Amino acid sequence: MNLIIIGAQGSGKGTQASLLVERLGLRHVSSGDIFRSAIQNGTELGMQAKSYIDRGDLVPDSLTIHLILALLSEPEYSSGVALDGFPRTRDQAQALDQALPQMQKTIDYAIYLNVPQEKLLDRLLNRYVCEAHQHVYNIRSKPPITAGICDIDGSKLIQRSDDNPENIKHRLHIFFQQTIQVTHFYRAQKKLIEVDGDQPITKVSADIFEAMGLQSEFVA
Ligand code: AMP
Repeated sequence: MNLIIIGAQGSGKGTQASLLVERLGLRHVSSGDIFRSAIQNGTELGMQAKSYIDRGDLVPDSLTIHLILALLSEPEYSSGVALDGFPRTRDQAQALDQALPQMQKTIDYAIYLNVPQEKLLDRLLNRYVCEAHQHVYNIRSKPPITAGICDIDGSKLIQRSDDNPENIKHRLHIFFQQTIQVTHFYRAQKKLIEVDGDQPITKVSADIFEAMGLQSEFVA
């Protein structure tokens, strides 16, 4: 199965992608994580992407499309993926659509986590990630057991450098102007599942599984 998780920053797309990956045995492909690790490792890609990410802009399609399509054509991604953060523009969605048949792949569902804009702002301002693996916390709704420390790997919790108020507003604007068009693209293909993302994590997950006709580990 190949899935796309669409959601604004702070909608919980990373969390839901991880639950789907674990449950369905998929590979998690997070374009944001790929760019962040490229920046951390000082690669050519990281250097090209950094200024866009720091400004809260999208990395150009010319760079992003090539990167993700090259990754998806590798054999380890043949048994199914959950795409988290890609496609983010109509051109990216079209390029993916055109490339998939050559890889003998198809998108089964595009899952849109719908969360009101004002809630997203509040969630992002309280978001912390662990330094080692970017496990996500929210100091209000999903705090760690020990303040400032990741429950899973014990590393320090930090705010993402792009999670500052000005940058957050800019990224949300881009989402509701541009990325929302990706939902229209998959709705037209009758592949869109729209879920109310403004609910507890387990309820969102249960709703997703129910919409896919699958049994959830969480009761809907
Ligand atoms: P994310 O972790 O998904 O919020 O992504 C962090 C940043 O990486 C975004 O604000 C963009 O600058 C960049 N990015 C991630 N995915 C894409 C994409 N599909 N297209 C363009 N830029 C992206």
